[in-house]
Amino acid sequence: MKELCIDMLSRRGVELDDIAECVMFLQKKYYPDLSHEKALEAVEKVLGKREVQNAVMTAIHLDESAEKGNMDEPLKEILMKDDPLYGIDEVMAYGICNLYGSIALTNYGYIDKEKPLIIGKLNEKGPQCNTFLDDIVGAIAASAASRLAHNR
Ligand code: MG
Repeated sequence: MKELCIDMLSRRGVELDDIAECVMFLQKKYYPDLSHEKALEAVEKVLGKREVQNAVMTAIHLDESAEKGNMDEPLKEILMKDDPLYGIDEVMAYGICNLYGSIALTNYGYIDKEKPLIIGKLNEKGPQCNTFLDDIVGAIAASAASRLAHNR
């Protein structure tokens, strides 16, 4: 299941290395000697959780269904234009962060506001629908950062 999620993320243009870079972005102030390898390891651990895998699969399925037109209106249009008032994409991200406590939640809020690196790229307007994906990537990075903070 974890491998399937890694393949799905990759098909949507997100590699685990990209998420690890977001972890480094979140942790650079608190953990200046954090290596890319350690960040990547934390991302892999987060992706090992069944609840996270379920969120990744659901998120990508919804984005792809909207893109293929395989969804009823008005939901299809809401997802295709990434309506900022929709909010359910963020709620799914909280579902991941809740597994990792309050540090994950505050990290997610920060990364969602700053939109660094791959999260910024996912937010650029293009033919691909990333309404759920950007939040899932942010939540995985935030959770991995929380894991590192707690295990230090
Ligand atoms: Mg979103």
